[in-house]
Amino acid sequence: MGKEKVTEIFGSMVFNEEVMKQRLSTTCYRAWKKCVDEGTPLSLETAHEMAAEMKNWAMDHGATHFTHWFQPMTGVTAEKHDSFISPESPSQVLMGFSGKELVRGEPDASSFPSGGLRATFEARGYTAWDPTSFAFIKDGSLCIPTIFCSYSGQALDKKTPLLRSQEELSRQAVRVLRLFGDKDVKKVISQVGPEQEYFLIDKDVYNKREDLILTGRTLFGAKPPKGQELEDHYFGTIKPRVAAYMKELDEELWRLGILAKTKHNEVAPAQHELAPIFNDANTACDHNQLTMEIMKKVAGRHNMVCLLHEKPFAGVNGSGKHDNWSLSTDAGANLFKPGSTPSQNARFLLFLAAFIKGVDEYQDLLRCSVANPGNDHRLGAQEAPPAIISIFLGDELTAIVDSIIHGTSYVEQNMKSLSIGVDALPAIPQDTTDRNRTSPLAFTGNKFEFRMLGSSQSISGPNTALNTIMAEELSQFADALEGAEDFNAALHELVKKTLTSHQRIIFNGNGYEESWVEEARKRGLSNLTCTADALQTYLQPKHVELFSKHRVFTKEELVARNEIHLENYCQVIGIEARTMVDMVKRNIFPAVCRFSGATASGVAAKKAVLADLDCGDEENLLRKLSGLSAEMMRQTAALEEALAAPKGKDAYEAALYYRYNVFDIMCRLRSAVDELETITAREDWPYPSYTELLFSVK
Ligand code: ADP
Ligand code: MG
Repeated sequence: MGKEKVTEIFGSMVFNEEVMKQRLSTTCYRAWKKCVDEGTPLSLETAHEMAAEMKNWAMDHGATHFTHWFQPMTGVTAEKHDSFISPESPSQVLMGFSGKELVRGEPDASSFPSGGLRATFEARGYTAWDPTSFAFIKDGSLCIPTIFCSYSGQALDKKTPLLRSQEELSRQAVRVLRLFGDKDVKKVISQVGPEQEYFLIDKDVYNKREDLILTGRTLFGAKPPKGQELEDHYFGTIKPRVAAYMKELDEELWRLGILAKTKHNEVAPAQHELAPIFNDANTACDHNQLTMEIMKKVAGRHNMVCLLHEKPFAGVNGSGKHDNWSLSTDAGANLFKPGSTPSQNARFLLFLAAFIKGVDEYQDLLRCSVANPGNDHRLGAQEAPPAIISIFLGDELTAIVDSIIHGTSYVEQNMKSLSIGVDALPAIPQDTTDRNRTSPLAFTGNKFEFRMLGSSQSISGPNTALNTIMAEELSQFADALEGAEDFNAALHELVKKTLTSHQRIIFNGNGYEESWVEEARKRGLSNLTCTADALQTYLQPKHVELFSKHRVFTKEELVARNEIHLENYCQVIGIEARTMVDMVKRNIFPAVCRFSGATASGVAAKKAVLADLDCGDEENLLRKLSGLSAEMMRQTAALEEALAAPKGKDAYEAALYYRYNVFDIMCRLRSAVDELETITAREDWPYPSYTELLFSVK
């Protein structure tokens, strides 16, 4: 960064509001602002001016190309670059960029997953400018954030549903706020701060691991003698090479206007975390996608690889993403912040009750929103929240909830029961020291932290789910309260009734304990332990109704998404299984043969000299090698057979087949191979060990 100041580089590559104010005509700027604030459409004329200024600004910053930047169902972003040039005469070009090019693109999108929404004869997809997220420059290209949809307008991406859910949530929340007498509120926005975990390993070591290259995780690897047990890495001093990486990463992110704020070492060796300051969900989602991309790119420059897989190494903690989520009005009031007046408290309790009801009613949907094959290795595995959805409220808030349910006094000395909308609540500490790390959804003072997200996934899905669920509950509450004669009394009854019916979802205990599984079962909570099981519930009528009622997904769109998720699950497991077979047959088995052969030759040579020499240790080793090797080859053959067999009549059956046949064999195969690794000479083992992988960066 040289001598540049952070304040100078921050946002320097973003066509943000400041830049617009400076460069656009007042009419054009106002039209954009109105479009963003009130949803009024932009005229083509405005788009033309906007495009021209964007291009001039981008060229001033060295850009030569533009691209629509979108978020297809692959989970990563996509771009197709066009240069600004257009021929003026046979020997001259002009640099141009029209309003039409800004507003709409037509990428040939036949290779993006559509879940059957787009027939091959209609290969074209459309990208349409999202004026609510700022354009930016990356790698010499002006990137224009867009949605991506089919010829007939069906969403083929992750941005469209998020935007739709934001709009609907806002509509319903505003209805509720009007009931509290708020006449000015125009919009309610969900605010999101995603904490991103990742691993950094040395590139030379990485390049020797076929599994990491092809699947992002190690499919084999014996536990290292030292793992994370000393917990000396967590928040420890950052190693110089990592520190240099983090510094450059921060600067790159700041240039893109991303509010990278905290960075620290995580629990596992080689694991780190980056958290930005929260933003509206749409921007947060764009920024998180960019963050993941840039994390990988910057790592390359430091001869390292950034692993975003949820579980790169068995036996050490995996990576997740904590999605901090709250609701705020356009005036900046946080609706999950307990207030100081009776009316603010009543509002807080209503939003809290809506959230509790929504989470209880849509447990399966929330579980589905974080289901992917990588995350299956984490959820419920003693390091990430369990696969069971529950809410942590902390002692104080739980006591308040209990007192509302039972009509008993919360503040003992007053001996009076709480009446919502009339009494002030006792102050709820903003930062409860009692931090529960095992809860999937923890209330942390003024926001909920959804802790089940996988590190590699787009945050769009989970936030779309949270927004839509909240929109539904708020709409029900608004319906119930809009006709009430005595608002406070009706509100009190509603909150009390809601909390009473949905208290089973509140759990403040340790989610890692075995006893919680039993307790949750008694409470009737879902426990969907893997993606294959979770996705069986995705298309239940309740979900279809929820999304179609709030116009977030049509049934068709939902069916298509389910298809994509199921197919992705099968493909990922299939690739992993085939990679294992390849590694065993072409590297591990030959290595074990070499090592066994050398050991056997050694025994023969010794015995040729002295026939009565005791070679017991070598013989035991040979027996063990031979036994494990036979088991390895049996499981490899079983895996090949399972991969070749028919997988069931539809995508649902196929996913279950991959989980309960293919994946189970993979686990058995891994167990034999990992044991072999511990008894094979280091120099013969064809892959770098966990020690080398986890402790390679100094
Ligand atoms: P921790 O979870 O470690 O205590 P913080 O509470 O500081 O860390 O914040 C974690 C993340 O939550 C950050 O990205 C932060 O910007 C975000 N965050 C803080 N307040 C809110 C809020 N009201 N809504 C959404 N996200 C928030
Ligand atoms: Mg946190």
